[in-house]
Amino acid sequence: MLREGLIYRTWGNFSIRISQNSFLITPSGLNYQQITPSDLVELSIYNGRYKGLNSPSSEREVHRIFYQQNPNINAVFHTHQIMASILASRGRDFLPAQQWHGNLGQVVPCCAYAPSGSAKMSRNIKKILRKTTPKALLLANHGAVICGINVEEALKRTRLLEQACEEYIARQASAFSEGRVENAQERLEYFKKKYPRRRTP
Ligand SMILES: [Zn+2]
Repeated sequence: MLREGLIYRTWGNFSIRISQNSFLITPSGLNYQQITPSDLVELSIYNGRYKGLNSPSSEREVHRIFYQQNPNINAVFHTHQIMASILASRGRDFLPAQQWHGNLGQVVPCCAYAPSGSAKMSRNIKKILRKTTPKALLLANHGAVICGINVEEALKRTRLLEQACEEYIARQASAFSEGRVENAQERLEYFKKKYPRRRTP
């Protein structure tokens, strides 16, 4: 993920469920290129207590909430990947194009902004996860959270989320440069007028 530019420096954090009641998470503030398995920290899903040589990531609660809310989730990534973070800055849910629905779902909800690692951030995430089981989540003015049944699935979704966001941003940018508009209804009318005989894209 470092190589692919999906995480930077010590930002972002990763976890995997290792039993019904615990998960391993990357430590706080350690360089990813120097991390070894013994640096990982074990946390209780039930009460958040941890054991290990290091402090767990300060964003550990985000991970814990995902494991708590959905027993089928076994891997959680939190990234500050560029394209998803740009979209997250809008503070709005992301509706990926249909081709991404299988991997990302029809909606990638956006969690309202709260300072990183704060109780308010946890509350905001819980509010979303109570209503839905998203495959990925945007954190307003911050980054993204991606989950999966295993590390491979979470990684695949992380890459696809970035691709889907990039595509969306590129489409919006070209619409903007041509003086078109972002609003879906207006866009629909624009295409209807421009291509009256064609099916609306
Ligand atoms: Zn973060």
